[in-house]
Amino acid sequence: MSRIHLLNSRLANQIAAGEVVERPASVAKEVLENSLDAGATRVEVDVESGGSKLIRIRDNGSGIPSDDMTLALARHATSKIASLEDLERVGSLGFRGEALASIGSVSKLTLTSNANEVGSEGCSAVCEGRDMEVQLKPASHPQGTTVEVRDLFFNTPARRKFLRKEKTEFNHLEEVVKRLALSRFDVGFSLRHNGKVVHNLKAAAAQTERQRRVAAVCGPAFMEQAIAIESEVPPYRLTGWVGLPTFSRSQADLQYFFVNGRVIRDRLIAHAVKQAYRDVLYHGRHPAFVLYLELDPAQVDVNVHPTKHEVRFRDGRAVHNFIFSSLHRALADVRPGQELERDPLPQHMLSTPDGMAIDTATGEIRSQSALAWGASSASRGAVSGRTYSHNATTAAQVSGQMSGYARLHGMPAAVSEEEVPPLGYALAQLKGIYILAENTHGLVVVDMHAAHERITYERLKAARADTGILSQPLLVPQSVAVSQREVGIASQHSELFERLGLAVEAGGEESLVIRQIPVLLRDSDVEQLVRDMLADLIEFGSSERIEAHMDEILSTMACHGSVRANRRLTIPEMNALLRDMEETERSGQCNHGRPTWTQMGLEELDKLFLRGR
Ligand code: ADP
Ligand code: MG
Repeated sequence: MSRIHLLNSRLANQIAAGEVVERPASVAKEVLENSLDAGATRVEVDVESGGSKLIRIRDNGSGIPSDDMTLALARHATSKIASLEDLERVGSLGFRGEALASIGSVSKLTLTSNANEVGSEGCSAVCEGRDMEVQLKPASHPQGTTVEVRDLFFNTPARRKFLRKEKTEFNHLEEVVKRLALSRFDVGFSLRHNGKVVHNLKAAAAQTERQRRVAAVCGPAFMEQAIAIESEVPPYRLTGWVGLPTFSRSQADLQYFFVNGRVIRDRLIAHAVKQAYRDVLYHGRHPAFVLYLELDPAQVDVNVHPTKHEVRFRDGRAVHNFIFSSLHRALADVRPGQELERDPLPQHMLSTPDGMAIDTATGEIRSQSALAWGASSASRGAVSGRTYSHNATTAAQVSGQMSGYARLHGMPAAVSEEEVPPLGYALAQLKGIYILAENTHGLVVVDMHAAHERITYERLKAARADTGILSQPLLVPQSVAVSQREVGIASQHSELFERLGLAVEAGGEESLVIRQIPVLLRDSDVEQLVRDMLADLIEFGSSERIEAHMDEILSTMACHGSVRANRRLTIPEMNALLRDMEETERSGQCNHGRPTWTQMGLEELDKLFLRGR
């Protein structure tokens, strides 16, 4: 081995770059965060060849004073924090003072800035050589900063090899822009790739403008099928949008979580969200959400990871609880008649007063729009946004009063519009599978087995909540080998286990004994459940596994105990089912997360028949 020597600064920076500069997307993230920290209200991103050839980001922020240009490119130099106290309540996105130095060490970087100083129109800086000496020269730039990064990894061929196809790298970079655009509605963003505009998002102040931005970033279908969240339990506040369970995804690719404006990927949060959706999501599907958590910066440590994608909460358990209960409540309320309160969306389809429909995106004529609508809603296979759509009221005006048929069957004689229940009154049964009903908006179609299954399931759960969990002693107590730590956790949570019908005791330093289990779990692998619960308790401070497993069993029971397809129901029976659905939490989806009903408004029917053209 040779003697110890100090690394030259380019090499030291290149080592640091290993942590933060993985690919073009990470460059964009660091540079954009600097723009936001500088108070920019508009940022323009220009990219060539997925970012490996060029990333140019221009902002209108505060700019960098000429005298600070050299420091801006040096490692461990930052204007954002000065003391440990600052570090403990960081308000800016950056604070490590490493990004520009790292990026500069693995690319050809030019920094041009104007801080609006007297006698200067700006200056530009390039750093070169093994010790990264900075070359400064005057330049003309409006107030703000432009960072130009060319030929990323040109001098680190090993890393350059890890870059993917241009398209893939660009997708990652676009994702970074999307996240930041969702985190700061007050800032305008534009993104161009190889000269083509990909996004142009104007600053959004009003709620409708924000929704428009979310729709532009996450797709209009998400906004059409999202519930707005607004929940506050000091010191926490949660806002944003979550997709209806029926708008689930095959991948966890539409999940945005922000903590005090910072994009976060966190296991604790992912777990809380997943738990909230547990009972309403089809197995293996992922929820979609855009959520903002705000709390006192002193309650969260952002300095736990170089890319700051992870955070640590002072009181993780309380955060978990708060997120879970906020979302759980909101999702439980998804049932017929709980129309979503919100401002009109930038809707793709506009209806005109004379009943015409115009596709605002393409200007297509009505018949084509009707076909396009049919195709998209079928491919989504979900309760579409129509259920909650705003133009439903216009259909109500047309529909006038309920059909005489419904009135014949035990309904009030004169039915005014307000008295018609959300799911209306049954008209008939189709093929022994669907109930057809009429409400003020038009036609309601209900999958009767799916609906009944959810109702039975919720009743079984309610009954369990009333009577508590029946539990039975094991003839032969079961001993489980665990770690010392797990023995400790088990005794610490003995009350929780008891409440769930489990008697779990320490059997020795490294073993637990299960003496009693819930009757419902007779045939389950209780040992594995207890192990998994302990793992949850260690990681998240809570566990719903036992409940989840019991719910699964109740759900299976509900499935068997529910009306099967092909059973004839009488009209009063059908009406009773509709009323039950309106009363039952989560009745918008069956136990497996499939929709239980859908609405076909008069307008949609009209469209199908080209009426009113
Ligand atoms: P950090 O963001 O952690 O402070 P960086 O290496 O990203 O470290 O940036 C170093 C410094 O350069 C920042 O603290 C800031 O003072 C200055 N700076 C960088 N980019 C900009 C910008 N777009 N506008 C104004 N100042 C900037
Ligand atoms: Mg920075």
